[in-house]
Amino acid sequence: MSIENTEEVVKSKNFIEQIIDEDLESGRFDHVVTRFPPEPNGYLHIGHAKSILLNYGLAEEYNGKFNMRFDDTNPTKEKEEFVDSILKDIEWLGADWEDRMFFASDYFDQMYEYAVKLIKKGKAFVCDLNAEEMREYRGTLTEPGKNSPYRDRSVEENLKLFEEMKEGKYADGEKVLRAKIDMASDNINMRDPIIYRVAHINHHRTGDKWCIYPMYDFAHPIEDAIEGVTHSICTLEFEDHRPLYDWVVNECEFENPPKQIEFAKLYVTDVITGKRYIKKLVEDEIVDGWDDPRLVSIAALRRRGFTPESIKKFIELVGVSKSNSSVDYAMLEYCIREDLKAKKPRIMGVLDPIKLIIDNYPEDQVEYMDVTNNVENEELGVRKAPFCKELYIDREDFMEEPPKKYFRLYPGNEVRLMNAYFVTCTDYKKDENGNVVEIHCTYDPETRSGSGFTGRKVKGTIHWVSARHAIKSEVRLFENLVDEEKGKLNEDGTLNLNPNSLVVREAYIEPSFKDFEGEDKFQFVRQGYFCKDSKDYTDEKPVFNRIVSLKSSFKLPK
Ligand code: ATP
Ligand code: MG
Repeated sequence: MSIENTEEVVKSKNFIEQIIDEDLESGRFDHVVTRFPPEPNGYLHIGHAKSILLNYGLAEEYNGKFNMRFDDTNPTKEKEEFVDSILKDIEWLGADWEDRMFFASDYFDQMYEYAVKLIKKGKAFVCDLNAEEMREYRGTLTEPGKNSPYRDRSVEENLKLFEEMKEGKYADGEKVLRAKIDMASDNINMRDPIIYRVAHINHHRTGDKWCIYPMYDFAHPIEDAIEGVTHSICTLEFEDHRPLYDWVVNECEFENPPKQIEFAKLYVTDVITGKRYIKKLVEDEIVDGWDDPRLVSIAALRRRGFTPESIKKFIELVGVSKSNSSVDYAMLEYCIREDLKAKKPRIMGVLDPIKLIIDNYPEDQVEYMDVTNNVENEELGVRKAPFCKELYIDREDFMEEPPKKYFRLYPGNEVRLMNAYFVTCTDYKKDENGNVVEIHCTYDPETRSGSGFTGRKVKGTIHWVSARHAIKSEVRLFENLVDEEKGKLNEDGTLNLNPNSLVVREAYIEPSFKDFEGEDKFQFVRQGYFCKDSKDYTDEKPVFNRIVSLKSSFKLPK
């Protein structure tokens, strides 16, 4: 079953759509505003694509608005480089934020005012406990916490101290502002959480204007509320934070406050997601930057040759759920194959070349064979592929001593050269190490493809390129970064790396790829889908990445 067919099946609404429907019906909201709120501390990955497409998709579906917001409240790890990469990735995925791009740091003044408001209401206090004492007072999952000895400071004193925190009178960690909620709450997040901390760090946008920064659980609901977000969609680990989210928007007295909804994160088998982990691979130079095609950052997927359409299909197939699970990487591969299948020209490329010499073919002759660019899509037309006496074929298409059912080339056997002639293997040569270096054959001029020859049949068809015309290219073949068989981690917690995650081949490619103007992706017949490497490809030295092979073990669930 193809993906197209599955779309005809009427989709039942996911649980988030059901919640939104109820909210619209009950009148809690009369419109929908969603947002994607990344922290600019790394590049986005396939998991983020799910969040982006989900939030953007809901805004579109309900004729609402989609906000792009940088959640830049923690200046330690945030950088402008990441802001730029994130915008590029979101745009590439097709999520359009129009003029609705926001930075949480633009709300620092307002957040400060809300903190003051809480102090005035007796709902926040400045606390002098250090981190260790704070831990002791917090209690455990089974035991309640204890009130801080600073909890009963007067409003005046709190206002004064908080202002002094802002003015830089205190060192990092010396004082914090805490919400005054309930130290006996079953939910540890509600035990007087810290809402502001002192941090003398330069911020990538506000510079040194601030030396106090709001904590995520305080800042995030305020950001949503200021922007008029209706449905604040986040991942499951925030479920326990929801009471605090609601507490903040209620105590800050927002009208029509947003509603937080949690869904399960996307995990993909055998790949590394999580900005932290990807960052480590980049910093340890295990990979060649954030867009190394073996990664699943969006930038890496793009460089590898994935299309936005394939990622959208993948996210659609994955669906939205409330329980964590891993999706098979093979499903992502399935989506890109389906997307490229009918769209891309199919050309011949030899990745592990060995020379094939046609002894009875005239030395200087060149013929141009008609080749259909894509047998599944006639609109892509036909091309001419040059053919001459010396060709390259793939090493695995020849065997000295074939097993049963091997129908490709071996001494005495006749095969079809795709789109060209039948050839019969007559001889082969080896080097001193016993490697086959040259194969000889004869061709039958009667058997030219398209000539209507029906005299006899052969069982094997192999691809080839003309040695004189083919373009020498670098081809990069990828496998998973981590060793799937043995598990992702070694006993010492380091990554169990797959030594074959990148294999570089010197390949020969049919020259016609240069004639498809503006095209960067091709099927190399029998080998897979390939993409010009966006960084390293030049006309002088073509470099191709294999996006995916043609073989698939994945079946679309019924
Ligand atoms: P990571 O754990 O990879 O560093 P993060 O959650 O820290 O990701 P943020 O920049 O805070 O990254 O995330 C922006 C948004 O993307 C958040 O709403 C977050 O819930 C969502 N998100 C992050 N990872 C995933 C994932 N694997 N699947 C779905 N959504 C995700
Ligand atoms: Mg994060």
